[in-house]
Amino acid sequence: SQDQKTWNFSAGPAVIPRPVLERAQRELLNWNNCGCSVMELSHRSPEFESILSKAEQDFRQILSIPKNYKVLWMQGGATAQFSAVVYNLLGSFDKTADYIVTGAWTSKAVEEAQRLGARVNVVANTKSTGHNGALPPISSWEFTPPSESAYIYYTSNETVHGVEFPDDEAFFSSLPAGVPVICDMSSNIMSRKIDITKYACIFAGAQKNIGPAGVTVLIIREDLIGTRVNPSLTIPIMLDYKICAENNSMYNTPPTYSIYIAGLVFEWLQSIGGLAAIEALNLRKSSKLYDTVAKSDGFYRCPVKEGYRSRMNIPFRIYGKDGQASKELEGKFLKEAEGRGMVQLKGHRSVGGIRASLYNAMPEEGVDALTGFMEEFRRANV
Ligand code: PLP
Repeated sequence: SQDQKTWNFSAGPAVIPRPVLERAQRELLNWNNCGCSVMELSHRSPEFESILSKAEQDFRQILSIPKNYKVLWMQGGATAQFSAVVYNLLGSFDKTADYIVTGAWTSKAVEEAQRLGARVNVVANTKSTGHNGALPPISSWEFTPPSESAYIYYTSNETVHGVEFPDDEAFFSSLPAGVPVICDMSSNIMSRKIDITKYACIFAGAQKNIGPAGVTVLIIREDLIGTRVNPSLTIPIMLDYKICAENNSMYNTPPTYSIYIAGLVFEWLQSIGGLAAIEALNLRKSSKLYDTVAKSDGFYRCPVKEGYRSRMNIPFRIYGKDGQASKELEGKFLKEAEGRGMVQLKGHRSVGGIRASLYNAMPEEGVDALTGFMEEFRRANV
């Protein structure tokens, strides 16, 4: 159909798997023969409770979440978690919070922690390189001693800069023992296998690999809920992990429809083979794009250092004959791409250029269409 010819490379809200949208469309007016839409169900109804519990069960299965971790469904986006971690996990203002800054999103999390009065230690920062992933060797990072450290915080995938933290044994084995690790996994959760036990708390806004915007998923070790609250701060009720956990994520009305779609996305992911299958696919898709950049004789260039290049968000610039990045060529590229149904390829306003986001739901054919067009565009404009 005409529709199938649109390839959406948005960084988020992002493409939802087609079979999920088709199923949601079929179920829109009459879910499970209950005579109404999921949107119209009370969150206290047995119908919605079954949707929520199935979604959690499938999410746990996909990520192999151990029993001593709670899954919480919260609101306010991933941004609300920048504040929530300080309220719930700092412990006290005498403690220091360690942040590893690899791009725009951790920078924002640092700003919010500081705004709430936390003492922040920036362990490593790639700002001076324009966040190109070039982290100094882990051995040179200055962590706060464990007795004074509240937590270590990082972002596994920096969506704006296209920097993905290497899933690195060396990283975890260099961390000071016993300090909780918090990770913003908004833009690469469920894209590769991870060992949940290495983390104290993982959070992710839904609108990339999980489903529609409006819900934020947390995976948190049970013993950290309500035990590291900063007594000098009163937690707004909607950010309180303990209240959320005690109320099965339904202290107030949860974003029911977003949770329902997330549940369908989980079923879809299981049906195509789960994390192992999607990881292989994501590796193949992103390699195709990086190879096209590498083989372009400098026409396309990716600013991110190898080893830190994201499989999810791939930024690149287009270079003119004068050896400079060319806004003119980039504008032309975006316009022609759009003409062929390849949309939302414009880089983030803070970095410019092109950015292709290849989340789980982007089919390989979409990447083939893009790389084919890139080759053609290069030949016509080199
Ligand atoms: N963290 C990362 C890595 C993101 O990519 C984003 C949004 O794109 C956010 C946090 C902020 O998420 P939200 O808009 O849900 O607050």
